[in-house]
This record gives sequence, structure tokens and C-alpha cells, in this order.
Amino acid sequence: MENSGADDAIHEVVIVGAGPAGLWAAFQLGLHGVSPLLIDSRATAGGQCAEFYADKPVYDMPGHAVVEAGEIIDRLLRQLDAFSPIFRFDCQITAVAAESEGFRLGLTSGDSLRATRVVLATGLGALAMQNISPLALPQAARNVQGALAVSTATFETQYPGLYAIGDCAAYPGKLPLLASAFHEAALMAFDIKKKRAGDRRVAPEFSSTSSRLKSLFTER
Ligand SMILES: Cc1cc2nc3c(=O)[nH]c(=O)nc-3n(C[C@H](O)[C@H](O)[C@H](O)COP(=O)(O)OP(=O)(O)OC[C@H]3O[C@@H](n4cnc5c(N)ncnc54)[C@H](O)[C@@H]3O)c2cc1C
Repeated sequence: MENSGADDAIHEVVIVGAGPAGLWAAFQLGLHGVSPLLIDSRATAGGQCAEFYADKPVYDMPGHAVVEAGEIIDRLLRQLDAFSPIFRFDCQITAVAAESEGFRLGLTSGDSLRATRVVLATGLGALAMQNISPLALPQAARNVQGALAVSTATFETQYPGLYAIGDCAAYPGKLPLLASAFHEAALMAFDIKKKRAGDRRVAPEFSSTSSRLKSLFTER
């Protein structure tokens, strides 16, 4: 796991927020061969789970009768390690501006970085906690009571290439739960996979029966 420094590259995908939604989004993108940069204003990953209730028991995590919130984050990080993720901590994004090709993200330091696609996984609770001012976003990205309106098929906002998942995504029936964030991350990553493929048809893959994924994990 790496904490990156100076940055002149154009990143294919930048994920803003390394809470549970951002971590699972990075894993899902990794399955499709995309290596995102993960940025968080906190010093460590985990968002609300780490900050608010790390030692509290969670009873609605699939496959676990009970698991502490901090352990969920540890497990997500261990799973993500397979893709050698690149993190930038203590780094707050202040603005996401559209450019002719992709986006420029402004940092509180005054620096900026560029990305072809941006996934917002900025939560809501953590934003309130850290007193982070609202992100400046392209006008077309419609704000619904502090969250971003998204397509429930792709989790893209109304601005192409700008996605929102987890607590910062708004759609009818949205539940601010970990399970929702994981589902949203999977659909977002599959949409990015389809867009990268252009005209080529892409089919969903089961990890359990995919020889490509089997060799990817056994070769690491
Ligand atoms: C006390 C409590 C108990 C809960 N219990 C449960 C439960 O039992 N089951 C359940 O399913 N859910 C539970 N939840 C809800 C669950 O924790 C949230 O739904 C989940 O954390 C949302 O994940 P997220 O990644 O979208 O956002 P967050 O966890 O909020 O993470 C967002 C991250 O983005 C970073 N960030 C924000 N803005 C910026 C910026 N501009 N630049 C850089 N970084 C930024 C933040 O620092 C943060 O790390 C609970 C929540 C709380 C507060």
C-alpha cells in the first residue's frame, strides 16, 4: 500500500473518499483492471466506520453474525491489497472542475491533479464531522439535499464521467447502509468497464468461475 506524493499524471480514475464505499470501489475497479488513486482528507482509511464506531458491533454485514466496524475496514484493506492500491491521505479535495477531457481536482494545498473519471465517495457524516465545506462540482451534477443525484444503473451523476456512491449518492429509496454502498460500487465499476471497452461487448463475470480472475489472484 502506497501513499503517493507529487502528482503530474492524468489518472484514469480518482476516488475521493477512502471510507467503505471508496475502498470497495477500488477493489471492484481492480477486478476490471483499473488502478484508481484513492484520496482522503483523514489520516487513514475507513470513513465513519473508523472515526465514529470502530469498536461497535455491526449485525447486518452479510456473512457475519457480528463484526466490529473497524474489522470491516481492516478486511476491506486486506482484500484491496491484492491490487497494490495507491492512497493519498491528509489530502482534501475542494473542487472538481470539468475540463475538455476529464476533470481537474483542486486540493486545499492549492495543487491540483487530473483524472479522466472521478468517483465521489465522500459520505455525509464524515463531511459534517470534519467541517469540510461542500465540494465545488460541475453545475450539471444535480444536488439533492447535500447528496448527488445518480442513475441507479450506473451511479453516474448527470455530469458524464462523474460518479457518486455511498452516503453521498441520492436516488429514490436510498438507504445509507454499508450494503448499499457495496452494491453501488459494483455497478459503478462495471459501467466504467463498459465505457473503457467502447463498442466491444462486455459481460459480467463471476469471480468463482472466471479463469481470468483465478489466475489474477493466484499470480499475485
Ligand atoms: C454511529 C454509526 C453507526 C452505523 N452503523 C451502521 C450499521 O450497523 N450498518 C450499516 O450498514 N451502516 C451503518 N452506519 C452507516 C455507514 O457507516 C455509512 O453508510 C458508511 O460509512 C458510508 O460509507 P461512505 O464510504 O459512503 O462514507 P464515509 O464512511 O462517510 O467515508 C467518506 C470518506 O470521504 C472522505 N472525504 C469526504 N470529503 C472529502 C474531500 N472533499 N476530500 C477528501 N476526502 C473526503 C472522508 O474523510 C471519509 O473518510 C453507521 C453510521 C454511523 C455514524
